[in-house]
Amino acid sequence: MFIDSHAHIDGPEFDADREEVIQRALDAGVSAILNVGTGDPHSGALERAVSLGEKHPGVHTAIGIHPHDARLYDARAERKILALIETSSRVIAWGEIGLDFHYDNSPRDVQVEVFRRQLRMARNAGLPVIIHTRDAEDETVEILKTEWNGPKLPGIMHCFSGTSQLARKVVELGFLISFSGIVTFKKAEELRSIARDVPSDRLLIETDCPYLTPVPYRGKRNEPAFVVEVARCLAELRGIELEEMGRITTANFCRVFGLDLAV
Ligand SMILES: [Zn+2]
Ligand SMILES: [Zn+2]
Repeated sequence: MFIDSHAHIDGPEFDADREEVIQRALDAGVSAILNVGTGDPHSGALERAVSLGEKHPGVHTAIGIHPHDARLYDARAERKILALIETSSRVIAWGEIGLDFHYDNSPRDVQVEVFRRQLRMARNAGLPVIIHTRDAEDETVEILKTEWNGPKLPGIMHCFSGTSQLARKVVELGFLISFSGIVTFKKAEELRSIARDVPSDRLLIETDCPYLTPVPYRGKRNEPAFVVEVARCLAELRGIELEEMGRITTANFCRVFGLDLAV
């Protein structure tokens, strides 16, 4: 049994065959998917993600304002997120939030301010957070140290592609580390060596689909069923059976979110 800890299946890339995609995931042993609603908060994107989770027992929901869209965060967006959390028990995380200094789609000072703000809001709401960070390791760690040090709520560093120092620091801060298809890429030797060393109780797997399709499906649209390939890669790296990797990452996911899936 596997769980895709981070997917984007509510978007237009899956409009033509979303039901089949979810069914293929189930057939592949992917019993749950955490679908992450992102995009312009005033476009209906967050509502779209929440309603998908309401419809499918295996699809859980996270909502938040991605660092790319930080400039669109305002009081109305914040009220909307809080209202959606209130109305849907299927929203189990606040995210993805963080810093992306690679693309700089929003000004950096705005990204920082909105990241801090959402960490506080998530803490108040009692929700775990999902962190996106790119080319902003030091800034991310500094902010997490100051804003995520209250009640012991878990968090996930999603689509981890950072340095071994970042991995060590976020593990110290209590975070889980989620690996995507990047870990299967030919050139990802350094990432694979990090993935070998992450403590077992901190490991998660994800697709981040429709992007980052793992080997051997490169060139195709990514989908939750392919998370098995991420698990396979991690299992080989760590010298354990694929099924065992599925059990470990599923148990971690259930523990973080207080879910009771039969493992
Ligand atoms: Zn991300
Ligand atoms: Zn994402």
